[in-house]
Amino acid sequence: TSQPPSYPYAAPASEAWFERASAVIPGGVNSPVRAFRSVGGTPRFMASATGPYLTDVDGREYVDLVCSWGPMILGHQHPTVLEAVHEASRRGFSYGTPSENEVLLAEAIVNRVEPVEQVRLVSSGTEATMSALRLARGFTGRSVVVKFAGCYHGHVDALLAHAGSGVATFALPDSAGVPASSAGETIVLPYNDVRALEETFARRGDEVAAVITEAAPGNMGMVPPAPGFTAALRRTTREHGALLISDEVMTGFRASAAGWYGLEGPTVHGSPDLFTFGKVMGGGFPAAAFGGRRDVMAHLAPSGPVYQAGTLSGNPVATAAGLATLRGCTPAVYERLEQAAHAIADGVTAELSAVGVAHTIQWAGSMFSVFFREGPVLSYADAQGQDTAAFGRFFHSMLSQGVHLPPSAYECWFVSAAHDDAAVDRVLAALPAAARAAS
Ligand code: PLP
Repeated sequence: TSQPPSYPYAAPASEAWFERASAVIPGGVNSPVRAFRSVGGTPRFMASATGPYLTDVDGREYVDLVCSWGPMILGHQHPTVLEAVHEASRRGFSYGTPSENEVLLAEAIVNRVEPVEQVRLVSSGTEATMSALRLARGFTGRSVVVKFAGCYHGHVDALLAHAGSGVATFALPDSAGVPASSAGETIVLPYNDVRALEETFARRGDEVAAVITEAAPGNMGMVPPAPGFTAALRRTTREHGALLISDEVMTGFRASAAGWYGLEGPTVHGSPDLFTFGKVMGGGFPAAAFGGRRDVMAHLAPSGPVYQAGTLSGNPVATAAGLATLRGCTPAVYERLEQAAHAIADGVTAELSAVGVAHTIQWAGSMFSVFFREGPVLSYADAQGQDTAAFGRFFHSMLSQGVHLPPSAYECWFVSAAHDDAAVDRVLAALPAAARAAS
C-alpha cells in the first residue's frame, strides 16, 4: 500500500479563512457540525472536490468520507451530473413556473419507492419534514407528534427535542428558542422500545397526528431498527388513526435504490403513509421532497387546505442534478458502495482491535458508523456511552494523513461510487497510526 501523507496540525490558509469567517458568520460556519467543536482544531476550508477527493485551501488532498453528509453518492463532479448541470443552467437558473425536470424527478422518486404515489419538491430536508408534519396534522386534525430520541429530522421546532447528530455533538438536549408550546406537542420516546411506544399510544393515541422516525437512524451513529420495531410502528399508528412518516432524507436512494424501504419495507405489513427525502435526490444541490399516499397528499394547497410553498422549489438546475444522480445510481453503484464501505470497515475493525480500542460498527445497507464503545448500540442512550475523546484523536490522525472523516462520533461515514481501490487503500494505510492514536 501507498504511504499516507503527513500534514501538520496547523493549516494556515484554513485558519486565516476561519478567522475571517468567524467575524461575519456565527461560529465561522453555516451548519454547526462543520465547526470541529467536538474534535477540536480548525475546520478545513475546501477549494475543490473531484471524485473521492477534497482539496483544501492549503493545497492538501483528502479522501472524502463525508460526501457532503450523504448527497455525493456518485462522487464529486461526476461527468454525467456535471453535464446535466451545465445543460440545465444554460437554459436558465430559475423560472418560478412549472418546468419539465421537476416532473421527471418526481417520476423518478415515485418509480423507485413503491408506496410513494405523489411527491412535493422542496429545497431542504428540514422543509420536507416540517411540511410532512403539517400535512399529517392537517390530515388527521390532531396535533401531537411522536419522535425518537437520537433521531434528527432537521431544525424543525417541534422536532428539535433529543435530536442526535449536531445537537448530540454539542451535548444540547434541545435548542433554545423552541417555544414550550411547540415542544409540548412532541412526545420523545426511546428508539427500539416497543413497550414505550405501546404505553404512550394506550394513553394518548387519539391525540397523535403522526409518528416520525428515521427509517434507519443515522444521526446518533447508525442504529438500525431492531427486528419488529418498524412493524410495531406501523401497527400501532394504524390502530390509533395516526400517520407514520418515514424520514429517508439520509437513507433514501443510498441504503438501496429504494432506500431503507427497499431493504426492510416489503417485510413490514403495510408501508409508511408519508416519506421524506433529500441529500442524494439533489445530487449536491438544494432539492428535497416529501410524498406518499395520494389521498393524504391531496390535502396540500392548491387543491387542499394545508399550505406549503417555495420560491426555489423544483429548481431546474437542482432537479437536473438530482435526476442525473438518481439515473446514475445503477446496481453497479450500490455494489461498489458496499465493497468500498466493507473494505474500510474491515480495516477499522482490524486496526482498532489490534490495539484494544473498544468499538462496534453498525450497518444499514452500505451505510455504516463506527461507535467507540462495545455494541450493540440500540438507542441514543447507548450511543452516548462512546469514548468521544478517543474518536477525536482518531479523527485528527486520519485528517493529518489525508482522510477527512465526519468531525463527530455521532455521524455515519459516507462513501461514494468514486471511492475506487486507490482511495480505499489510502484510507487503509492511514488506519494503523490512527488506531494507535485512539488507544
Ligand atoms: N432528516 C434526516 C434524517 C437528516 O439526516 C437530515 C440532515 O442531516 C435532515 C432531515 C435535514 O435535512 P437538511 O439538512 O437538508 O435540512
